[in-house]
Amino acid sequence: MIRLGLLGWPVSHSLSPKLQNAALNSVGLKWEYQLFPIDPAQPEKFGELINKVRIGDLAGLNVTIPYKQAVIPYLDELTATARRIGAVNTIYMREGCLIGHNTDAPGFQSDLLNKGGKIINIPRVAMVLGAGGSARAVIYALLGMSWKVIIAARKLDQARNLSLSIVQDPNTDKTECITLDSESLLPYIHQVNLVINTTPVGMYPKVESSPWPESLLFPVDAFVYDLIYNPSKTLLVEQAQKAGLSAVNGLGMLVEQASLAFEIWTGKPAPREVMYSVVGIVK
Ligand code: NAP
Repeated sequence: MIRLGLLGWPVSHSLSPKLQNAALNSVGLKWEYQLFPIDPAQPEKFGELINKVRIGDLAGLNVTIPYKQAVIPYLDELTATARRIGAVNTIYMREGCLIGHNTDAPGFQSDLLNKGGKIINIPRVAMVLGAGGSARAVIYALLGMSWKVIIAARKLDQARNLSLSIVQDPNTDKTECITLDSESLLPYIHQVNLVINTTPVGMYPKVESSPWPESLLFPVDAFVYDLIYNPSKTLLVEQAQKAGLSAVNGLGMLVEQASLAFEIWTGKPAPREVMYSVVGIVK
């Protein structure tokens, strides 16, 4: 019985069915998680699918590119997290209301705390590469953990708009926006202790590219976190490790955000060990 699924376009590459179906099996729920690819040229199908959650035909949906913002007008309420981030990745019904939430932010936060060890326990300055959808969730999570955030994007305006919409204070010193190039990054290198890639640069199939500017040294002792998980070792992760830094991919964030969505839909604790093991991580 199909009760859950992923709305997006394209979605065929997604690991979510593997993760969620393994979790559902493990807790003995006879539900199924399915892909719902909806072509943006057929918007009526989009509304129909979301309505299935409203009428109880589906217990919930995940939402991915290009619908994380487009879905908002179809919902009755957003959680505070989704409202601030301005994007939804999880939909469910509660007390007659169709609710949109964003589990990317708490998912990233959990994984960072799991992985970061000592460095992450002393929040200082994080440098976020990119200013798109996932950057919004990551920056929201970092600010919630008292990090100062340098947003480095190829479009400075996009970084500034992101900062303004999340921090909601034009005079904030919690974020600084710079252009993603060697010259602009250089003055910040000595103060940064966490670098996070939220751009798709280095993702399959363009695995030979890195978002880190060529010839720029990495910050000493920084922790490098690449949201990309395909390939499992991106060029950025490889470069950082060669420079003697700890560096991880985004698989942990993927599992954590999926676990949180699972708990919202089913009301049961997510079988995290099972979910980690289906993506090849032994906890
Ligand atoms: P997005 O909304 O399209 O944002 C991508 C950002 O990267 C934009 O700021 C974009 O700038 C910038 N960018 C793209 N190409 C660039 C380049 N060549 N140089 C510099 N900047 C560039 O995408 P997203 O949803 O944030 O996803 C980004 C990546 O994160 C993807 O690889 C995705 O798979 C991964 N992700 C992982 C997880 C996880 O759970 N691990 C969750 C979400 C996303 P422009 O606007 O100028 O193009």
